[in-house]
Amino acid sequence: MENKYDIIVLGAGLTGLTTSYYIHKSGKKVLVIDPNSHVGGVIQTDAKNGFLFEKGPNTGILGSVEIAELIEDLHPDCEIEVGNKIVDKRFILHNAKWQPLPAGLSQGVTTPLFSFKDKLRLLGEPFRKPGTNDNETLAELVKRRMGQSFLDYAIDPFILGVYAGDPSYLVPKYALPKLYNLEQDYGSFIGGAIKKKFIKTSERDKKATRKIFTIKGGLSKLADAIYKRIGEEKFILGATNIEVGKLDKGYSVKLFNANKEPLEFQSDKIITTTPAFQLENLLPFVEKDLIKDVQNVFYAPVVEVAIGFNKWEGVSLDGFGGLIPHKEKRDILGVMYMSSLFEGRAPEGGALISVFVGGARRPELTKLSDEKIKKLVEKEFKELMGVENFNPDLFEISHHNRAIPQYGKESKERFAAVKSIQKEYPGLFIGGNLYDGIGMADRVKQGKQMADFVINN
Ligand SMILES: Cc1cc2nc3c(=O)[nH]c(=O)nc-3n(C[C@H](O)[C@H](O)[C@H](O)COP(=O)(O)OP(=O)(O)OC[C@H]3O[C@@H](n4cnc5c(N)ncnc54)[C@H](O)[C@@H]3O)c2cc1C
Repeated sequence: MENKYDIIVLGAGLTGLTTSYYIHKSGKKVLVIDPNSHVGGVIQTDAKNGFLFEKGPNTGILGSVEIAELIEDLHPDCEIEVGNKIVDKRFILHNAKWQPLPAGLSQGVTTPLFSFKDKLRLLGEPFRKPGTNDNETLAELVKRRMGQSFLDYAIDPFILGVYAGDPSYLVPKYALPKLYNLEQDYGSFIGGAIKKKFIKTSERDKKATRKIFTIKGGLSKLADAIYKRIGEEKFILGATNIEVGKLDKGYSVKLFNANKEPLEFQSDKIITTTPAFQLENLLPFVEKDLIKDVQNVFYAPVVEVAIGFNKWEGVSLDGFGGLIPHKEKRDILGVMYMSSLFEGRAPEGGALISVFVGGARRPELTKLSDEKIKKLVEKEFKELMGVENFNPDLFEISHHNRAIPQYGKESKERFAAVKSIQKEYPGLFIGGNLYDGIGMADRVKQGKQMADFVINN
């Protein structure tokens, strides 16, 4: 194996894979290094007992042009599957009963999810002054503009679904910049959303349809397709003791490969796409204060359970799934009806449901034994999903001890520290989900932008 590369990418999750793919496509020599023996990072599809299930992310949103173009580009090595039309039917638990999330004005008026007072108050939303505190939390922002019941039964479950997070921790300026900018740019969520509908978008921008998607055969097929296109000889998987060193010109990367042999590579440009908490060991030459600020991000823990039934006899699974507001005091965060959304997930007549436990506000649940997690899920399925005899044909638990970074008020220092490190160490680029968003569409967007920058600078 040669030891000089144009660019070395650390991390073969979706961010690192996307970055490496576009670098490789530009004709530059890239090397990708990861401690895992598989590519895709947290993306992992598995198959068992006739079920096809995800152990990490379940669905993506076509929320950036870059993710739509990446999937297009990878065709036919991977093929998109857009969620069928029931994706818009979502349920929210309210007083222990599933209620549809209002899809239009008339449902919005009649839904029991929001109080009469807040429904009336919403009429005044376009006339309320924009906030002036950059560190205002999401909970404060929503209470101020929309009222407590919208926070409890719309925003809280939405945030559970995206961040497994806590609205009184997340700061919209960093965690939901589009929402924050609606208020700052247009003075109102409602007014801003309406005005934005009339802004002309280019044909390219229209590719970001915001539709829910997966990849035929599961999300791992996306990672596998990129791996195939770049070529396995450009990867070192199963690496240990990975450490970047600063040379007079450029950088070295030392590691042990899967056979425990020591290797050293050199490059003028290094891109890290690892979780934040890996950076201290990975970049020992960077000042401790800067690394401390970069690593100052809480990753909420999540346990994900894929539950399969050969014959489903519970409540109707006609929809995307259901989210459970914190106020309902249940032990699961939500359920996603994967076999209703996508083809081939469960045997005919059966069901595959993804269940999430823990998150930012119930981290203690993620520490329970698998047996206790099963008991807890059984109780919730009996009470909420209409399952009398809980005898699943698939019950697969995946632990993610540091799953989803929570962008709180400390994010400002983190983002600034990333910039400082990059300025101080030309040729070193820090990417990954510690900034620029946590969803797959954000990851691909960042990966593509980093690749473009590094190729041209
Ligand atoms: C349980 C769960 C459910 C999710 N659900 C969704 C969803 O439904 N929809 C959605 O859009 N997003 C979802 N997300 C978020 C999304 O999946 C992630 O943000 C995204 O996949 C992260 O990609 P990444 O490459 O930035 O990070 P990762 O996937 O974490 O990849 C980082 C890589 O860095 C490697 N690494 C670690 N240490 C080192 C080192 N020292 N040197 C080199 N490499 C190293 C790791 O092994 C890993 O492969 C979910 C995330 C989780 C955890």
